[in-house]
Order: sequence, then C-alpha cells, then structure tokens
Amino acid sequence: MKTIVIAGGGTAGLQLAARLGKQLGKRGLANIVLVDRYRTHLWKPLLHEVAAGKLEPYIHHTSFALQARRYGFRFVQGEFTSLNRDNRTLAITTAGSDGATHVTALAYDTLVLAIGGTTQYFGVPGAREHALALDSVPGAEYARTQIVDALRRVSSQAKAADRPARASVAIVGAGATGVQLAAQVRQMSRVLSQYGIHSLDPERGTEIRLVEASGNILPGMDHRLADRTTAELQAQGIQILLNTRVTEVRPDCLHIAGAAPVAADVTIWTAGVTVSPVLSNIGLQVTRNGRVRVGDTLQTLEDEHIYALGDCASFRPAGELAELPTRAQVAHQQAIYLARALPRALAGKPVARFKFQDRGSVISLADDMALCHLLAPGVSDGWQVQGALAKLVHAVIYRRHVLAIQGFARAVAMTLSQRLERLLGAGYRLD
Ligand SMILES: Cc1cc2nc3c(=O)[nH]c(=O)nc-3n(C[C@H](O)[C@H](O)[C@H](O)COP(=O)(O)OP(=O)(O)OC[C@H]3O[C@@H](n4cnc5c(N)ncnc54)[C@H](O)[C@@H]3O)c2cc1C
Repeated sequence: MKTIVIAGGGTAGLQLAARLGKQLGKRGLANIVLVDRYRTHLWKPLLHEVAAGKLEPYIHHTSFALQARRYGFRFVQGEFTSLNRDNRTLAITTAGSDGATHVTALAYDTLVLAIGGTTQYFGVPGAREHALALDSVPGAEYARTQIVDALRRVSSQAKAADRPARASVAIVGAGATGVQLAAQVRQMSRVLSQYGIHSLDPERGTEIRLVEASGNILPGMDHRLADRTTAELQAQGIQILLNTRVTEVRPDCLHIAGAAPVAADVTIWTAGVTVSPVLSNIGLQVTRNGRVRVGDTLQTLEDEHIYALGDCASFRPAGELAELPTRAQVAHQQAIYLARALPRALAGKPVARFKFQDRGSVISLADDMALCHLLAPGVSDGWQVQGALAKLVHAVIYRRHVLAIQGFARAVAMTLSQRLERLLGAGYRLD
C-alpha cells in the first residue's frame, strides 16, 4: 500500500490529512501520515487574538492524535529536519524531556510539503533578538505576556512618579496581521484598564504605532479596503507610519531610516514571511523567500513525488505576474484541490489543474468592527461590506475551517462552548 506523508498540520495540512484519511486511510487504500512539530493545531489567523489575550488557545485548539483516530490517518509528532529524495525518506527529529534529540526516518511514496511560513526579518539588526513574532502559539502567548508586563510596568512607574505615562507598542508591518493586531491591542489595553490590571489612561495611556515600509497599509489588497481600515485605525488613535523603514530594533526603541528613533516598550514583527531553510537544501527550486516552486497540479517542478501547498509553496497562475499570496484562503483551496487530485493521481487517473478563486479579504478590527472586500466570479469590482455582516463573514471563515476538520456535530459543540466561555469571562484574558 502507498504511503502519503503530509509534513505540517496547519490550515492546509490538517484539512488535507482529514480528507485523505476519510477517503483513503479508513478504506485501507493508502497510508496517510501527518507530521507536525506540535501536538495540537490552532488556526494561524487567530494568533493575533492569542497575542492580545482575546482567545484562549486551549479552547480553540485541536489535538492531532484525536483527529488521526477519527479520520484514519497516523500522526507523528516531530520536526521535519531533512529529506533524502533518492530513497524517499524524511528525517523527523524529536526532543525528549531530558533534552536529548532523536532522529527517525519516515518513508513516503508521495510527500506533501505543508510546513507554512515563518517570520522574515529581512536581516534588520536586532529584529530577531528584540522583536516578538506571531508565527506559533508559544510565540503569540509570549507576546501577550510581554504586552501585559509593559502595561503593568509603565503603569506602576507612572504611579511612583505621580505623573501620567504611556506604554508604547510598535507593530512592524501593516499587512492583515499587523493591522488586526493593532486594533486588538487597543481593545486589550481598554479592557485591562477597566479591570484594574493597569491604571494607564484607557485611550491615551497606550501608544500603538503601525510601522510600514511601503506607501500604504494592507499591501496587495483592495485600496478601498485599505482606506476604510486606515480611517478606522486612526479613529482608534493608532498611529500609522507609512514609507518608514526600520533600520534597527533595540530593546526600547526602533531606529528609522532618515528620522528620529521611535519609542517601543514592546515591538512585534509582522512584516514578512519566509520559509524554513529545510526546503532550500533538497534540490528543489525555491523563491527568494524560500517558497518551493510548484506547477498547476501543485507538484514540485523537479520531483513528481513531492507536492507543496500553502505558505511554503510558490504557485504563479498562468498569465499572472505574481505568485499567489501567503493567505489562508489559498491554503484552504489548495487543500481541497489536493484532496481530490491525489486519490485520482494514485489511481492513475488524469487530474484537473489547480485554479485559485479569489473571494476577497476580511479585516477584523475589534469586537464590533470588521471590514470586507468580497469578490465573486464575474463581478469585477466586488462589494465593500462592513459592520455586523462583515463580522459574520469573518466568523463564517473560521467556522468553515473548524467544520472541515471537526465535522458538523463537534463544530457546533465547540462553537457553543467557546461562546459560553466568552460570555462568562471578560472577553480578554486578565491573567
Ligand atoms: C497572526 C496571523 C494572522 C493572519 N491572518 C490572516 C488573515 O486574516 N487572512 C488570511 O488569509 N491569512 C492570514 N494569515 C496567514 C495564514 O495564517 C496562512 O496563510 C495560512 O495559515 C497558511 O497555511 P499553511 O497550512 O500553509 O501553514 P500553517 O497554517 O502555518 O501551518 C504550518 C504547519 O506546519 C507545522 N510545521 C512547520 N514547520 C515544521 C517542520 N519543520 N516539521 C513539522 N511541522 C512543521 C506548523 O507547526 C504548522 O502546524 C495570518 C497569519 C498570521 C501569523
């Protein structure tokens, strides 16, 4: 029996494993193996909410082992650290509680690379050391503790000196992650002030700056969406510094090309995505950001046994100048495509080409505000939506992911328990 190994259980990989497990694994038609470095999955577009304390990861996460049993695939926890294409094996490294590492070999007939992306610091001095990254649950949780610590620290310094003070949070990169995080931090600071976690002014006591190297926020998205988002952020007192290039990150400030340094008690780096070097050294073509180039069946250009999808893959549709962006929508559609294409390829049947259908973008700015630019086939300009309807679209996108990996009954149960948890709490973590 053939073995399909999926490396990475994120937005794309877990959904693909569940679908292939159901179609092939449960029926004994193929071995489906999912590898991830963590034991649980959390949908990555929620990480800024984890960083702001709006979302408890343990209430929203999914156990890979549980999913494996339900859907008929095998789960291997460990880090994919190298690949031998000649004998088709992956090296999986695990660390024991004693700190010792173990390497095991995992054989495949077909390999799907779905390891996502990681933070790109563009070689800016001090960025890796002093800026926080949101590319994993532990990273987002650490960012939350650093923001809360900064609010508390500045608050007690202000009390001791008996004068008003401000905590400053700098977010480098005004893409979807940075923009949504800025709004969440504003809301977080307000709520923590209401509950007495800090005594800074709920509006003016936290300076939030979005620092963007290009001339607009939300680069690559509809300009009307960007304009509406800018107005909304400014109304929330968030400063947007455009055409501003960070040249160095220090523990307490950012150095800016051609301007005075900007104070930052906490710096969060959301400026770019790169891919783990593990994919750069295996004889496959990669882009400048380390994304593996794939063709229109998502197979790598050099090796028909290896596919790649999601953030770690670079796919440029025919006739387009740019590769598809690193977005959940792309990863989701590619997972659905591969779940249909792989069983056909395995059975020696012809497979259709992958076609991306852009459905638009959603930006969630705080509890009661979201903005959307929705697209549909044949509609050239799309629709601009905001308010309750946009919030509903945002919720539906996440719930669709939960539905895809949990099934209907569990998705409903999870939604209810998450709603209950939110109703009973303050809306933001207070610890
Ligand atoms: C804070 C934040 C907010 C975002 N908001 C949005 C949004 O609003 N809209 C949108 O469209 N997109 C958003 N994105 C981008 C979106 O999350 C990604 O495009 C999407 O998750 C990509 O899916 P993926 O499956 O390729 O990778 P991921 O979802 O990142 O999954 C990769 C998986 O691989 C595992 N892994 C990584 N390396 C290894 C290894 N070496 N060995 C084993 N396992 C490994 C990881 O643990 C992870 O489970 C956001 C991203 C972030 C960080």
